[in-house]
Amino acid sequence: MRDGLAGELAMWARSGYPHEVVALLLGRINDADVIAIEQFVPVANQAHDPLTQFVLDPQGWLTADAHAHSLGLEIIGMVHTHPDAQPQPSLADVASADLLGTRFAYLVIAVDANGDIAMMAWRWNGQAFCELRNVCH
Ligand SMILES: [Zn+2]
Repeated sequence: MRDGLAGELAMWARSGYPHEVVALLLGRINDADVIAIEQFVPVANQAHDPLTQFVLDPQGWLTADAHAHSLGLEIIGMVHTHPDAQPQPSLADVASADLLGTRFAYLVIAVDANGDIAMMAWRWNGQAFCELRNVCH
């Protein structure tokens, strides 16, 4: 992850509280399957209940993709927040994981009313989420 990016993500997560906020991650995945996250692009959460759910605005996806290409990057993952919860993928996250496939980084940021942050990175392997710092086959 680029220097400073974790701090920017933490500020963004706090600013969205108490709603779940969603962003796409831009960066690169190299031949060794190492994910380098350079930027994030917030996308509107279209969920009916944004306190506990997120639904990506499809137009936001297209905009982020165009922005990525203009920088020589690609969309390599997604980040969303879990207000007043843990940074583990929820059952809803598991249910929607197949939409994203097994290449994506899947960052979850827990945030609470005090502004405390806990960030974890995951990857879907087709059956389960594994933590990204571990080898994930
Ligand atoms: Zn979630």
